Amino acid sequence: MSSVFGKVARVGRKLLLEREGPLTRELLQEPTKFGLGRMPPKLAPESTTTMVCGFCSTGCGLEVLLKSGEAVGLTPSPDHPVNIGMACPKGWEALAPLKGPGRAVKPMVKRDGKLTPVSWEEAIFEMVDRFRAIQEKHGKGAVAWLGTGQMPTEELAFLGALGKFGMGMIHGDGNTRQCMATAAVAYKEAFGFDAPPFTYADFEESDVIVLVGSNLCIAHPIMWERICRNKHEPEIVVIDPRLTETAMAAQHHYAIRPKGDLTLLYAVAQELIAQGWVDHAYVEAHTSGYEQFARSVAGFTLERAEADTGISAARIAQLARMIHDGKRVSFWWTMGVNQSHEGTRTAQAIIALALMTNNIGRPGTGANSVTGQCNAMGSRLFSNTTNLLGGRSFADPDDRAEVARLLDIDVERIPSQSSLAYDQIIEGVLSNKIKALWIVATNPAHSWINQSHLTEALGRLDCLVVQDMYVDTETALLADIMLPAAGWGEKEGTFINSERRIGVIKRVVKAPGEALADFHIFRLLAEAWGCGSMFAEWTSPEAVFQILKRLSAGRPCDITGIEDYAALDRVGGIQWPLPEGRALEDNQRRLFADGRYFTSDERARFLFQEPRPLPEPTSRAYPLLLLTGRGSSSQWHTQTRTKRSEVLRRLAPSELYVELSPADAKQLAIEPDEMVTVASQRARIRARAFVTHAVKPGEVFIPMHYEVMNRLTFAAFDPYSRQPAYKACAVRINKLEPSDR
Ligand code: SF4
Repeated sequence: MSSVFGKVARVGRKLLLEREGPLTRELLQEPTKFGLGRMPPKLAPESTTTMVCGFCSTGCGLEVLLKSGEAVGLTPSPDHPVNIGMACPKGWEALAPLKGPGRAVKPMVKRDGKLTPVSWEEAIFEMVDRFRAIQEKHGKGAVAWLGTGQMPTEELAFLGALGKFGMGMIHGDGNTRQCMATAAVAYKEAFGFDAPPFTYADFEESDVIVLVGSNLCIAHPIMWERICRNKHEPEIVVIDPRLTETAMAAQHHYAIRPKGDLTLLYAVAQELIAQGWVDHAYVEAHTSGYEQFARSVAGFTLERAEADTGISAARIAQLARMIHDGKRVSFWWTMGVNQSHEGTRTAQAIIALALMTNNIGRPGTGANSVTGQCNAMGSRLFSNTTNLLGGRSFADPDDRAEVARLLDIDVERIPSQSSLAYDQIIEGVLSNKIKALWIVATNPAHSWINQSHLTEALGRLDCLVVQDMYVDTETALLADIMLPAAGWGEKEGTFINSERRIGVIKRVVKAPGEALADFHIFRLLAEAWGCGSMFAEWTSPEAVFQILKRLSAGRPCDITGIEDYAALDRVGGIQWPLPEGRALEDNQRRLFADGRYFTSDERARFLFQEPRPLPEPTSRAYPLLLLTGRGSSSQWHTQTRTKRSEVLRRLAPSELYVELSPADAKQLAIEPDEMVTVASQRARIRARAFVTHAVKPGEVFIPMHYEVMNRLTFAAFDPYSRQPAYKACAVRINKLEPSDR
C-alpha cells in the first residue's frame, strides 16, 4: 500500500500547490502571467467606458477600452467601490466568449426535424401562432417561461410583464430558483422583505467572520480579497463539510457532516442562551418570536450536536464564545445553505444568531446572503414570477391595483396567483398541463437537478422556444424555435449585485449576425402578439429603468432618487434604497441601523423548525454522500460562456474528476488519477479519481460544471423556497469494468 500513499502524498502536494486559493491570489496579482488582460498589440484604445461584469453577483466594475466605438480590451476599474482595481479570471476574459464559437446568428425553426434558418418575422410569428394555438386548446397556463438572473433588470421586467400581462401566461420562473430562492424566502419571512442588509465594506470591518456553506475564495474571489484587506485581524470561521480553499485559508474549519448545519446553528444559539450571551435589550426592542425560539432550541445541547454534526462539544462552545467575544460579527452564507432540503430554516437560524447577539445594522455585522448570478437580485425584485413587480404579492388585490395604475393597464390582466415554481413547471410538463416552454438565457438541460427527468420533460413539449446567445447549449439543441440573442457587452441595462448595488452594463460590441438584444426580441413579440400598445412606453432599457423607479416608489427597494444611468455610472453604482430627495451621502450603506424591519410591526422574526433527515441517505448499495459545488474561479456554472475562452479553459481542470478520501480510495483499491465510475440510483458516469484529504471518508465531491453531474443528483426541494437540494445525494464509486473501458 505504500505506493498508494506515496501517490496520495504527491496528489496532496499537487492539491496544495494547485488548488484555487493560492492560484486565484496569484491570478489576481499577476493576471498577465496567465494570459489575462493582454491587449492585442495593434489595437491601441482611443477611449474607455465603464460597466459592471456580467458573470457573478459581486458586481465588479470594469473599464472597457474602445477603438472606433468597439471594445478591444478591458481592465478592472481602480476606484470602483466593489473591486478596487481587481477582477477574477472570468472578469478579465469577459469579452472573449462574445467572439467564441457557437454563437446564434440567425433565427431558426425546426423543419423536418432540423433547425433551419428563417427570417425574424417568420420565427416570431411561428412562435406566436404556436403559443396561441396551445393556449386556445389547453388554457392560458399551458404556456410558461423559464428566465435567468443573467439578464439586466429591465429585460427581466419586460419578459415578466409581457409574459403575464401581455401574452396571458400564468407561470414563469427563472434559474434564480436554483441559487437564491432560499435566501429570498428566508429574508422575506424574517425581515418582511427580501432585503440583504449588508455592504461589502462589512468584510473589512468585522472582527469575526463566519462563512457557512461558502467557498468564497473561488466562488467570489473579489469578496475574499475584501476579507484579506480587513485590518482587524478577524477570526475567520468556515462551516463546510469539505476542506475547501476558503477553509484552508481560515483559522477555524468546522467540517460538519453534510447538512449538519441547522443542528450546529441551533446548538450555538442554545449555548449563547445558556451562557447568558443574548442581547435581550435588542431582542425585546426589535424582534418577535424569541421566547418560542429559545424554547425550541433548548434541546440542542452540545452533546446532541456533537453526535449529529461530528463537531466536538468543545468546538461548538468555542464558536459560541467567538461570537460572544466579537464586537462586530458578520455571518455570510451561499449555496451550501441555499441548496438544501431545509435551506430556508438554516438561513433563518443564521439570521437568529445575528439578531440575538445584536450583530445587524452596524459596520462589520449582518446575516448576509451572498448571491450567485450577476443579477439574481434584479430577478428577485422585478422578474414578475413569484413576486409581482417590486416585491409585491399577486394574491394581494391592493398590490395588483397599484401595479395596474402605475403601468396604466387593466387590472384584470394581472394574475391573482403566483407562478408555479421551476420544479412545479417541470412537473406540469410531465403531467401534460404545460405544453410549451420559452427558455430564455438559461440551460436547464445541463443545470437542473436530476437532469434525465428534465430532458424527458423537454422532449414531451409541443413547442420549445429557446432564446440564447449560443446554438449549441444542451437546451438549445432540443429547441423547436431558436431566437438568437445578444449577450452582456452587446446590450444595455442594469444589474443589482449582492450588496443591493445597481450597476450599468453597456453595448460595447456589435452582436453577431442577426442576433438581437433580448429587450428588442420582447418588443418584436409584443407587436406580433398584438399587445404592443401596452408597452408603448417600454422603448429602451433606460425608459424601462424609469418605469422601475415608479414601481419602486414607497417600497423598501425605492430607487426614485436615482436619476438615470449616468448617475449610476458616475459613482460606481448605487445601493437600493435611495428614495427621491435623499442625497447619496455614503455609497457603502447597510440596512436596519435603526432596528426597524419591513414587517407589519417593524420587528424581525425568529423562526424555527426541527431538522429533518437527508432526503436520500446513504445505503449499503450507495454508501457515499456526493457533495457538489464550484470547481474553479475560471468556470461559470454550465460553462456556456467560460468554455469559449481559451485562457479560461487552460485555467480550469480539463476533465470531470471526483474527490474521494484516501481511506475510501484504499478500501475501494482505487489509485490516484484512475478513471472510476460514480453511480447514483439515477445514473452512472465516469470521472477521474482525485484522492485528497479535502473530503472526509464517506463523502465525495464533484464540481457542478460538467453536464453529466446532474444526472446523478436527487430531486429534493426546500418546501418553502422550492430551491433544489443539489448538495447531498447517495452514490457509490467503482473501478471501471472492462465494459466501461
Ligand atoms: S468576481 Fe464576479 S463580478 Fe468580479 S470579475 Fe469575477 S466574475 Fe466578474
